[in-house]
Amino acid sequence: MPSFVCFAKNCGYQTSAPTEAELMTKIAEHAKTAHKMDPIPPDVMVKVKAAIKK
Ligand SMILES: [Zn+2]
Repeated sequence: MPSFVCFAKNCGYQTSAPTEAELMTKIAEHAKTAHKMDPIPPDVMVKVKAAIKK
């Protein structure tokens, strides 16, 4: 299933979900609470998508 490891410095957050859509929801929540990104900026979103392992 799709998984994601946060690439922010000193973060180390990892998550996975049954679908990529659910994974994106979890990542968005993490970005908001841990990195104050609400929403995730487009340039960061490109990196997020690249970091998702399917
Ligand atoms: Zn993070």
